Amino acid sequence: MNGKRNAGAIAAWLVLLILAMPAFIAAESGASVFHGNTASKVFHRVGCRHYNCSKCTAVFHTRQSAVEAGYRPCKVCKP
Ligand SMILES: [Zn+2]
Repeated sequence: MNGKRNAGAIAAWLVLLILAMPAFIAAESGASVFHGNTASKVFHRVGCRHYNCSKCTAVFHTRQSAVEAGYRPCKVCKP
C-alpha cells in the first residue's frame, strides 16, 4: 500500500519538474548573468575576456537591467 502511495508522490513531483523545466532552461540559456565594470560602466557577458575583471563587480541578470543601470554593452563581446 505504501509503495503505491510513494509512486503517486513521485509522479506528482515529476509533473512539477516538467512544468518548471521551461522556466529553468530559459534562466540557464537566455537570461545569463552579465558583469558590469564599475569603473568604466561597461558590461560583459559570460565568456568575454573582461567578464571577470577586477572592477567587474556589478552583476546583472538581464541585459536590460544593465542598460537601465547606466551601463554600456562591451564592444568586444557585444552583449
Ligand atoms: Zn566584454
